[in-house]
Amino acid sequence: MEHTDVAVIGAGLLGCFTARALTAFALSVTVLEAREDVCTGISRANTGIVYTGYDTKPGTLKTALCLQANRDFGRLCRELDVPFSRPGSLLFGFGPRSERVLRDKFAQGQRNGVPGLALLEPAAVYAREPHLAPGVTLGLYAPGTGTVDPWALGIAAFENARDNGADFRFCQPVLHMERTPEGFRLETAAGTYQARAVVNCAGLQAAAVRELTQCPAVRLVPSAADYLVLDDTLAGFVRHILFHEPEERGKGLTIVPTVEGALLIGPTDRPQGEAPAGAVSRQGLERLRRLCAQVVPDLPLEETIRAFAGLRPDPFAVRQEGGQWVPTDRSIHSFTVLEEEGLISLVGIKTPGLTCAAALGEHAASLAAQHLGGPGRNVAFSPERRGIRRAHALSEAERDALIQQDPAYGTVVCRCRDITLGEVREAVRRGAVTVDGVKRRTGAGMGRCQGARCMQAVAEVLAQEQNIPLRSVTKDGPGSPILLGQPGE
Ligand SMILES: Cc1cc2nc3c(=O)[nH]c(=O)nc-3n(C[C@H](O)[C@H](O)[C@H](O)COP(=O)(O)OP(=O)(O)OC[C@H]3O[C@@H](n4cnc5c(N)ncnc54)[C@H](O)[C@@H]3O)c2cc1C
Repeated sequence: MEHTDVAVIGAGLLGCFTARALTAFALSVTVLEAREDVCTGISRANTGIVYTGYDTKPGTLKTALCLQANRDFGRLCRELDVPFSRPGSLLFGFGPRSERVLRDKFAQGQRNGVPGLALLEPAAVYAREPHLAPGVTLGLYAPGTGTVDPWALGIAAFENARDNGADFRFCQPVLHMERTPEGFRLETAAGTYQARAVVNCAGLQAAAVRELTQCPAVRLVPSAADYLVLDDTLAGFVRHILFHEPEERGKGLTIVPTVEGALLIGPTDRPQGEAPAGAVSRQGLERLRRLCAQVVPDLPLEETIRAFAGLRPDPFAVRQEGGQWVPTDRSIHSFTVLEEEGLISLVGIKTPGLTCAAALGEHAASLAAQHLGGPGRNVAFSPERRGIRRAHALSEAERDALIQQDPAYGTVVCRCRDITLGEVREAVRRGAVTVDGVKRRTGAGMGRCQGARCMQAVAEVLAQEQNIPLRSVTKDGPGSPILLGQPGE
């Protein structure tokens, strides 16, 4: 049995930021993650928007954390060396219902203390976004809205937490947890751990993990989201993060000019059952295309390079029915952070969970530290982490010096994004174990050809660096082999 002060369950954005915040204390921290890498769950497939806090109810924990997180986001990304842009957002609509919604959100944002909000008349909206369809009646501009690559943020938090002493254990789903006089005993597929406190950041499984020791309080009923990604040849087509407030009820269109220069369109909000788990739904994508045709009619959708789906952990209150606990139809809008004698659970953390990941991690870590009697600070803690060097972003002289040091930085592997062999190797050395893990760390495979030209080279680096057969390399973990057979077999 292994002993640790705090066990964190799950290594998505929340688990990685909780681990990072815990390492600022003089505590031992072990992160138990079911999958082979960080940020493979909800944190992998979301919209990547850093919200300002005009959209949440005044006086709630969600609003307080969102305002603080938005203010601190630039500093956080500088500390972690993560690209972040703040193009501002424009919410707009085409009629009286949306106009009312915009005026209400403006008033709510002012009550929340969101800086710089402005209502814009149609002429001012079109001056900012000339490609919007005719008929816009009002706009709400929020200069503080930003965007970040979600996995770049999560991976940076992971590396920083690991550098500060957190021990990450992958492929270790927590299957059993019980209270003991010293705290908690946790069993994973690979070992047994004794922890004095536990922070449950298990995303879609957070309610189920909590119920290993507690009576049900919240149940998660996932809903699904579809997205389209358009090529970076469209960089500049929209200048802001665009939110369309529809006249009829339902979800409007969101368009994000990403930090990498692509356009992200979505998400839809649909029942999970409309498509197999993790897959996009045909109806969802059709709805996105219809909305684009209405709202930004000259957006060239033929530049679509990818579609993907995500899952929301929608939280609902529970009731008992025939001796069973079942979710009610009362959905929970606030962030649910439960502290139960050393078990801290972050359950059903939806939007703006990415914006608030660092703030939520600090909140959870301080609850754990309080439970453990207020440990001292870790004097060796550093909040700083440096990312992988991007050869294409260096000056010619810097690139030449880097290639002198390591010739692998002179060989381009991903031609769409100009990613070199040196960057791919460095990603594997930092913890990537799948082709998608390399993609999330370097961008290789994210461009127009979606990995058609570089996947084999990336797979070969994974095999060499990990000293495993090429056939064992997967695209995205178990069940996604790249090679089904090799010549001669
Ligand atoms: C469609 C969508 C769009 C969003 N857009 C935004 C946005 O634009 N801006 C914003 O601020 N927020 C956004 N969010 C919210 C944000 O993405 C989430 O709040 C955040 O990613 C949640 O991270 P997490 O760590 O809780 O979950 P996850 O990333 O799912 O991590 C949970 C981890 O726990 C692991 N796990 C599960 N069970 C176990 C177990 N038994 N043992 C060990 N490990 C386990 C999983 O493998 C997983 O790695 C969006 C969310 C969704 C779904």
